[in-house]
Amino acid sequence: MRYRSTRSSLENLSGREAVLQGIAGDGGLFVPDRMDFSGFSWESMMNLSTEGMAERIFEYFLDDFLEIPEIVARSYKGRFDDPEITPLKKVGDLYVLELFHGPTAAFKDVALSALPVLMSEARKQLGKEERILILTATSGDTGKAAMEGFKDVPGTGIIVFYPYGGVSPVQEMQMTTAEGRNVRAVAVRGNFDDTQTGVKKIFSLLTESLKRETGTTLSSANSINIGRLVPQIVYYFKAYASLLSSGEIHPGDLVDYTVPTGNFGDILAGYYAKKLGLPVGKLILAANRNNVLRDFIDTGVYDKNRPFYRTNSPSMDILVSSNLERLLYDISGGDCDKVKGFMEKLGTEGRYEISGEMLARLQDSFAAFDADEEKSLRTIREVYDSCGYLIDTHTAVAFSAAGEYREKTGSMRPNVVLSTASAYKFPDAVREALDLPKMDDPFSVIPMIRDETGTKIPENLKDLDRKPVRFSDVIEIEEMPGYVEKAVESGEFYR
Ligand SMILES: *Cc1c(COP(=O)(O)O)cnc(C)c1O
Repeated sequence: MRYRSTRSSLENLSGREAVLQGIAGDGGLFVPDRMDFSGFSWESMMNLSTEGMAERIFEYFLDDFLEIPEIVARSYKGRFDDPEITPLKKVGDLYVLELFHGPTAAFKDVALSALPVLMSEARKQLGKEERILILTATSGDTGKAAMEGFKDVPGTGIIVFYPYGGVSPVQEMQMTTAEGRNVRAVAVRGNFDDTQTGVKKIFSLLTESLKRETGTTLSSANSINIGRLVPQIVYYFKAYASLLSSGEIHPGDLVDYTVPTGNFGDILAGYYAKKLGLPVGKLILAANRNNVLRDFIDTGVYDKNRPFYRTNSPSMDILVSSNLERLLYDISGGDCDKVKGFMEKLGTEGRYEISGEMLARLQDSFAAFDADEEKSLRTIREVYDSCGYLIDTHTAVAFSAAGEYREKTGSMRPNVVLSTASAYKFPDAVREALDLPKMDDPFSVIPMIRDETGTKIPENLKDLDRKPVRFSDVIEIEEMPGYVEKAVESGEFYR
C-alpha cells in the first residue's frame, strides 16, 4: 500500500515513510492511494486472536514493515489487563466493546501502544539516524497514552501540550506525574482547538530548521498519523468475531457500531473496516454538546463558528475534527482539489458545505446524535440501575446515541457501543450521576465509587495523587514554538 496526501498528488510514500513523517508536506493527511480495499478477506480473520487480526491488518496497510508479528507482540504483550485486549460484553440489548484495558485506561492505548513501536522500527529499518521529537496536542487521553507508549523508546522524545483547565484532574495528574526521561507535558492557555492549531504551526515553522540545525525530525502522535489509525481498525473486526463466536449473529449479518467521537479517528477506523468488507451496518456518531459533526452529518454543512463548551466528556470537546479530512477525500472520490478547497474555507471562513452527492454518500454509512452533560449523566445512572454496568461520560454519550438511533429508525440490528474510557477516569461526573456526595478532593472520589459499585479501580489509576508531580509549566499559545526550540537545545529530557 502506498500513501498520498489528501490535498495533492505530490507525495507518494510507503507505510514506513508515512508513519515516520506523520503529516504530508502540503498540510494534508496521508491516505491509501487506492480507494478500493476489496480483495481483503474479512472471513479469514474471524478465528484469529486480536493479535492475529492486528498482524493481518498491519500487513495489509503497512506492507513494507518487516517483522510485523514481532511489532504486534512488542506493542501489546503485557500491557493490557485483559487477555483479549478489547473484550466485548453484553449489556442490556447492546454490546459494549471495552477499549480501556490498556496502561492509561482509555481507548487511545490501543493505537498508542503500537505507534511508538512502528515509529522506532520504521526508523531502524530505513536506516535513519536522526532523533524523532513527537509533538502532540491532547484533549486529555492521547497525552498520557502517548507518554506511556514513547517512554524511554530509544531515539525518541515527546512533548505533550494540553489545554490548561481543559482536562479532568485525573487526566492532568496522569500526565504531570508521567515517568520516562524523554517525556514532558505542558499546559497551554487556550482550548484544545487552539492547542492543536499551535502544534500544527510548530510543524510548519520548525520542521526544516530543527532538522538542519539539530538533526531532529518532528513527528506527531495525534490521530492524524496513519500509524494511529491502522491499529484502531482491528477492534471492529474483533467485536464482530466475538459476536459470531458467541452465536449472537451469523456470518454476514450487519452490525451497527456507535462511536463517541471527537477528532473522528476512532469512527474513521470503523469506516475503513467497512471498506475492507466487514459487514458494518451504520456507523453511529455520538457527539457531546460540541455537536459540529452531528450537524455536518445531518446537513452537509461543517460550521465551527459556534460556542465552544467544556463538557464532562472533555476528550470530545473539539470543533475541528482532523480526521474528517480523510473521509472527505473518500466521499469526494479522491478529489484532492476539492478537499484542499474545503480545508482552505475552513481556515478562512470556519465553514464549508459539501455537495448533495457527497452528503448522500456520507449518510449512507453514518448517522449522528448528540447528548448534553445532563443526558450523559442520566444515561450513566440508567445503565447502572438497569444493568449494573458502570460507564464513563464518553461512553454514556454513545449509549444515548445508540438508543436514539433505534428509537428513530426502529432498527433492532445488533449494536456495538465503543466504550472509550474507564469510569474511573472521570470520577467526579460519575459520582454526580450516581448521586453520591460531593468531595473536595477529586481523588477521594475514586475509592468512594469503588465502594458504592463494587467495581475495580484500574491498577494505573490507583495512588495517582501520591506520585510526584514532574511537570508544572503553563505557557501561552504564542510561546509554544519557543518552548520546543528550548527543549531541543537543552537536550536534557531527551537523548
Ligand atoms: C479521544 C477520545 C474520544 C474521541 O475519539 P476520536 O478518535 O478523537 O474521535 C472519545 N472518548 C475518549 C475517552 C477519548 O479519549
